[in-house]
Amino acid sequence: MIRVPTQEIQLAQYSGVVPESLISGITSAAEKLQGMRVVHVNATPVGGGVAEILQSLVPLMRSVGIEAEWYAIEPDESFFRVGKILHHCLQGDGESLCHDDIDIYLRHNQKAADAATVMGLTADLWLIHDAQVLPLLHYLNSPPGVWVCHVDATRPNKSVMGLLRSYMSDYKIVMASMPEYLPEDNNADRVFVSPPAIDPLIPKHKPLSFDQAREVLAGLGIDPGRPLVTQVSRFDRWKDPWGVIHAFRLARKEVPTLQLALVGAMTADDDYEALEVLTSVQQYARNDPEIHLFSDPIVIGDLEVNAFQSGSDIIVQKSIREGFGLTVAEAMWKGVPVIGGNCGGIRLQIHDGENGLLVNDIASCARAIVDLLNDRALAKSIGEAGRESVRRSFLMPRLLRDYLHVATSVLNGNGSSVCSRYQAAASFIDN
Ligand code: UDP
Repeated sequence: MIRVPTQEIQLAQYSGVVPESLISGITSAAEKLQGMRVVHVNATPVGGGVAEILQSLVPLMRSVGIEAEWYAIEPDESFFRVGKILHHCLQGDGESLCHDDIDIYLRHNQKAADAATVMGLTADLWLIHDAQVLPLLHYLNSPPGVWVCHVDATRPNKSVMGLLRSYMSDYKIVMASMPEYLPEDNNADRVFVSPPAIDPLIPKHKPLSFDQAREVLAGLGIDPGRPLVTQVSRFDRWKDPWGVIHAFRLARKEVPTLQLALVGAMTADDDYEALEVLTSVQQYARNDPEIHLFSDPIVIGDLEVNAFQSGSDIIVQKSIREGFGLTVAEAMWKGVPVIGGNCGGIRLQIHDGENGLLVNDIASCARAIVDLLNDRALAKSIGEAGRESVRRSFLMPRLLRDYLHVATSVLNGNGSSVCSRYQAAASFIDN
């Protein structure tokens, strides 16, 4: 197990960004949790949405008096491969884990639990993120734990879900962005529904004007004078980069000056699969000079992601499965109109035609691109509504409030629980 360092953040910094009532509610909820020791565990310290969330959530918990720490399990190639298969099994039913894979999965969790014991790692509450580390609590001899499911498990492989379900019973509470991600008979005492959130204060979300953003993009080979559609995502099959290219090609027939960017910086933890997807996407793009693919982390950092999200005419997130899709909230926060695949957590964020557009296929994605480019007033109103909906529901203090709620519930035990069998976070904040 590796301890992941995080920056210091203070709750007071969010004053003026989120409602004061939310900040005061958090402060009073935290009073009963002073000194509580909370350990988050996930599979990777960098890359993807979970690491992104923990980078802010962990220091925010600390800022309100909770002794929060974040550990990631030691990387190992065989475990990484099995974790990938597990992820695919949960998001779709086409694949399964073989006997040896299950063995690797369980042995690694046992090894991580042994390491935690040797390190003397203890917690009043373990917050275990995603399926890769779900069995960990079992090997830690079941201290109080909450499991958080971040993936879109609406149509999982049934036998793999059966295996996971048996480990869910070790947990006091299981959390997910949407109730349908968890099996009805999930065996946990209680289920809490709370979608993730983005941190408006990190450099990636620092306000950047359209012109400033375009200047950065010009340095990356994008023509600042022409329309641009972008998808910011890992090169992953569930993000459907081929579908984005196809939709772009259809849209370009009506808007010949259109450019496309696919932005997915590879992290050190990325695997053979991300490379395979990238190679396939490169072939599919056929050296088209108007299709810009970015995967080099030296070229794409926070500033560049911000510039693409702030300086594109449209952000597309054409996923087929999506646990939540932080990239959707990130672009909406920047006031840019978002077209999202009609699936999982994207449906939670986009109300079609109001604060974004939902699409079911390539043709409707192309149509939506053209409509937004041709109707600037529509693009502007959708962008503004998107930003407001993120402000109300998907900023980090709201997520902190939900975790405090869950921690209080566990601390109180079943007798005086504040969390019913199924409870959804009141994700909309009153003003
Ligand atoms: N991201 C990034 N650089 C990239 C591509 C993605 O920093 O080149 C970030 C993105 O801004 C977001 C996260 O990675 O914060 C992806 O989270 P999301 O929930 O959208 O998808 P996941 O990767 O977890 O499936």
